[in-house]
Amino acid sequence: MVRLNRENRTRFFRVKCPDCENEQIVFEKASTVVACTVCGHLLSEPTGGKANIKAEILAELK
Ligand SMILES: [Zn+2]
Repeated sequence: MVRLNRENRTRFFRVKCPDCENEQIVFEKASTVVACTVCGHLLSEPTGGKANIKAEILAELK
């Protein structure tokens, strides 16, 4: 991978599981499926670039 997208910063989101309200951090460009660590609910799915976050986003971490 070439590191040339400097302004294209990667972000993290704090999300809340819609099923059990567990809060956890999801990487914006996660390349694997992210599941809730408590109940296993699917929180984020990889797409071509950004992850498709399926949980409620509470905050963006910078
Ligand atoms: Zn959950």
